[in-house]
Amino acid sequence: ANREPLPDFDGNGMLADGHLVPLLANVGSGTDAQAAAAAGAQGVGLLRTEFCFLGRDAEPTHQEQVAAYGAVFEAFAGKKVVVRTLDAGADKPLPFLTDTTEPNPALGVRGYRTDAASPGVLSRQLAAIAQAAGEHQAEVWTMAPMISTPAEAGAFAAMVAEAGLPTGGAMIEVPSAAVLAGGILSRCDFVSLGTNDLTQYTMAADRQLGAMAELNDPWQPAVLHLIKATSEGARSAGGKPVGVCGEAAADPALAVVLVGLGVNTLSMNKRALSPVAAVLRTVDLPAARRLAALALDADSASEARRLVRAELPELD
Ligand code: PEP
Ligand code: MG
Repeated sequence: ANREPLPDFDGNGMLADGHLVPLLANVGSGTDAQAAAAAGAQGVGLLRTEFCFLGRDAEPTHQEQVAAYGAVFEAFAGKKVVVRTLDAGADKPLPFLTDTTEPNPALGVRGYRTDAASPGVLSRQLAAIAQAAGEHQAEVWTMAPMISTPAEAGAFAAMVAEAGLPTGGAMIEVPSAAVLAGGILSRCDFVSLGTNDLTQYTMAADRQLGAMAELNDPWQPAVLHLIKATSEGARSAGGKPVGVCGEAAADPALAVVLVGLGVNTLSMNKRALSPVAAVLRTVDLPAARRLAALALDADSASEARRLVRAELPELD
């Protein structure tokens, strides 16, 4: 663990004109959640539940899962905690779920797709989340990774409701889901953009390959256009919530662009909360929209980044 003190953050994400942008934390364990709460996060925008499954050769029991999720809910009593159901496969293989002979694991069984390949794991996880939620005061939202169609979003939302959980959503990580975000949001309660995977799949550039770094950049205008399509889809579905929980939200200049594109909440590593909040406070909503338009019209990621950063002098 990093022992350097965290920079001060007063727990408020807000633009210069008072427009609120709740800043949430990405967490991967109960102790991580405690540290994020202490750092002032307004909630959890991404609980990566893989922590409970890693390093095991069998599925954790119901009680083990209830205890693991409960430790996170306890750290955020009265606050929102967005739980992502298991994202096994591709860059997160699990011995008892992942077929290691797949020729293209990033395009294979991962995330929500595991439910068809290994029936029962997801519904048992939802039952554990529901029990832990019932034992704590956090406001628990549940979302599935790697949703590719509105039908999948609808099927997942039905499973969430069946488990007795109040709020079900979809991650937008696949371009098809961004294009049809309106249809997805007519079948579930919220979406959260996973910009790490959305960038990888939009640019056809492996997130794990350093040599692909220039393409695999969330500043790529094509990625920003899909984020815009997602927030427009949310508006068409009656203004349902759109968050970002990929690494893009931790880049202060890109955070401004994301808000300008219509994103409502940003979730990030706790260390980024204070630097992101500091830059958001320097712009109002019209300025954020203007910077988003500049980035959308750029012809490369580096050009988009350069144009926006030039308008945010406090970053230098
Ligand atoms: C993402 O893809 O942006 C994301 C938040 O999920 P992960 O990085 O865990 O795949
Ligand atoms: Mg992802």
